[in-house]
Amino acid sequence: MARRLLLLGPPGAGKGTQAQRLVAKLGVPQISTGDMLRAAVAACSEVGRQAQSYMDRGELVPDAVVIGVAEERLRQDDATGFVLDGFPRTAAQARALDALLQKLGRGLQRVVSIRVDDDELVERLLRRSRLETRSDDTPETIRNRMRVYREQTAPLIEYYRELGILAEVDGRGGVEEVERRIQEALAA
Ligand code: AMP
Repeated sequence: MARRLLLLGPPGAGKGTQAQRLVAKLGVPQISTGDMLRAAVAACSEVGRQAQSYMDRGELVPDAVVIGVAEERLRQDDATGFVLDGFPRTAAQARALDALLQKLGRGLQRVVSIRVDDDELVERLLRRSRLETRSDDTPETIRNRMRVYREQTAPLIEYYRELGILAEVDGRGGVEEVERRIQEALAA
């Protein structure tokens, strides 16, 4: 089975949860720029200082900052396999990722796009905002993150379709159900 994967999907589609399931099965690291950026903010590092205001507004952190964070992680020895979650989110990030992975001889093998419609996403995100304390799960930032996804990240679906490595999965229903669909898509 493929060991270098990318999960694509709108905020609330379950990327993080499905990435955790996949890494447990494949024994590869989960690489989530959202988690790394939140850790940087918590540690008050330079990257955290650069990222915080964008994250609080539900905007994308500038490409140069995020690409730097992702690149440093992908160059580590354990990243011969990985599940990328939340990176890339723009065309420039996707190109930077391709160039880096090509240089490292670790090209992406499969991209799984998780599809969920907008009404269900808003409902899920509002539910999550009541359960967790993510400062970017307020109604305004949720709307903003969905708009940002549509405008900047969704076009990557076509980019990976053209590369012939895209699998599309229905993200409705329970975690196990979606996990099973992803496994089927990866086995195909
Ligand atoms: P996530 O946990 O993936 O939803 O990311 C939370 C926030 O971190 C996003 O709303 C962005 O502000 C920022 N972020 C995470 N990954 C990226 C990325 N690849 N490009 C730009 N901003 C990002």
